[in-house]
Amino acid sequence: MFWSKIFLPTLKDTPQDAEVVSHKLMLRAGMIRKVSSGIYTWLPLGLRVLRKIENIIREEMNLSEAQEVLMPMVQPRELWEETQRWEKMGSELLRIKDRHDRDFCLGPTHEEVITDLIRNNVKSYKELPLNIYQIQTKFRDEVRPRYGVMRGREFLMKDSYSFNINQSSLDESYQLMRETYKKIIDRLGLKYKIVKADSGAIGGDVSEEFHVLAENGEDTIAVSDSSEFAINTELLLKDGEDLQSLQGKPSPDGKGVIEIKKGIEVGHIFQLGEVYTNLMNANVLDKEGKAQNLYMGCYGIGVSRLVAAAIEQNNDDKGIIWPESITPFDVNIVAIGFEKDEKIASASINMYEKLSSMGYEVILDDRKDGYGTKMKDAELIGIPMNIIIGKQYLEKNEIELMHRDGKTSIGAYEDIETIFEHFKNL
Ligand code: ATP
Ligand code: MG
Repeated sequence: MFWSKIFLPTLKDTPQDAEVVSHKLMLRAGMIRKVSSGIYTWLPLGLRVLRKIENIIREEMNLSEAQEVLMPMVQPRELWEETQRWEKMGSELLRIKDRHDRDFCLGPTHEEVITDLIRNNVKSYKELPLNIYQIQTKFRDEVRPRYGVMRGREFLMKDSYSFNINQSSLDESYQLMRETYKKIIDRLGLKYKIVKADSGAIGGDVSEEFHVLAENGEDTIAVSDSSEFAINTELLLKDGEDLQSLQGKPSPDGKGVIEIKKGIEVGHIFQLGEVYTNLMNANVLDKEGKAQNLYMGCYGIGVSRLVAAAIEQNNDDKGIIWPESITPFDVNIVAIGFEKDEKIASASINMYEKLSSMGYEVILDDRKDGYGTKMKDAELIGIPMNIIIGKQYLEKNEIELMHRDGKTSIGAYEDIETIFEHFKNL
């Protein structure tokens, strides 16, 4: 991709209405633009990151043998009446009418639709267990949409639902999803905690949240300073206690003391048990030929929220520092004097083609701007590797490699592979 052609409107100044660093940087780096409160357009650079995260999730879900479907965003009132959630969801549920005056809502989640699908199409325990997932747009009319895509009204979620014949099978599906979520967030290169959670409005028993640790997280969690233990502080606070009083107390798991941290909830896994399958009458025939209620689990990951969470954890005062697995491009070629100097232009284009053929995703900064502007934008959009082709190339046939985290290296133009190797060993 050539920088002069890609639609990448970077901003010098921080937009007024952005509070947290990820929102500021996503706007400044030309990743998103606001359409309405909590509703955003993803621009090419942002979409590349979103798709990378989506693909990592899809790969790991498929490896777990979950199967992908795509359910509708518009859902009929009748299904939501069955679970009494047409009432219960209140104004978070965006309701619409069709031309025949029938009621629909924009799906904030898909328990009703998936349970309806399964009850109509799965008849025997022999077809179980099943784990069905989708990666799809959700709409929740949040009271306080904020922090850009971190808490949007329209957002992208991976949601999956397991259907099991009994509790022990549900336990297995739940554990498998828990392991899958660990693999996904590890591949994204993020630091996180698995937090015991309140199962809240959805209902059910066992529930854990995956939190990416970050100062701007909206959730407060209590973690042990010497074990993996982590719990939502809401579950720990007794009446009249405040957060400060938890700090330094012995951890409930008996290991170490409590530290209070901020987290961004990026994933949530639940054992719903029979809550929905009871209400919706979803059963199959068991071994004895008797109708048996299905056990259900549900597992969500906030795909679009993960983009913001990754930035919250990986930035400095100059811009974003992308983890390699989700960077929009691997390499940025900063060509100084591209339009003026035929030699610079052809050396940059050759480098671009060579790296592309090596399998790297490359962006070439061929714009008219000078070194200062180009480097500022390079730091802002946070590509891990920058290759500078300019004066030194003309004078000494040398190029400079600059890693976004600050490491630099100089070498001969022809020697790009050796320089790359050298970089890896730094
Ligand atoms: P929260 O407590 O942050 O409101 P939730 O508990 O309502 O989230 P779930 O119903 O568990 O969310 O949804 C699964 C995942 O979807 C969450 O873990 C989160 O990553 C993501 N998510 C939920 N609401 C939003 C939102 N408004 N904007 C972006 N992502 C969201
Ligand atoms: Mg949740």
